[in-house]
Amino acid sequence: MARVNVHCPRCQSDLVYRHGQSSKGYDRFRCRDCHRVFQLTYTYEARKPGVKEQIVEMAFNGSGVRDTARVLKIGINTVIRALKNSRPAG
Ligand SMILES: [Zn+2]
Repeated sequence: MARVNVHCPRCQSDLVYRHGQSSKGYDRFRCRDCHRVFQLTYTYEARKPGVKEQIVEMAFNGSGVRDTARVLKIGINTVIRALKNSRPAG
């Protein structure tokens, strides 16, 4: 089974597989753990332009990882990943 780099918005499981397409042609996914069906287009706020910048800005302003994730409606792991990637090399 092809692994997809998608996490379930409900249980954060990565045991997710493609489950056809929505009426608008977006990919739909289904979680093997909780069987939730979801779409990337509305679950992955982090994919939108500018979200990564917002994560970094909130961190500089003293927001915790959990606060940032809640405000931006994204996963904690996404916040952590964005902060790691934004760290200046050296
Ligand atoms: Zn799930």
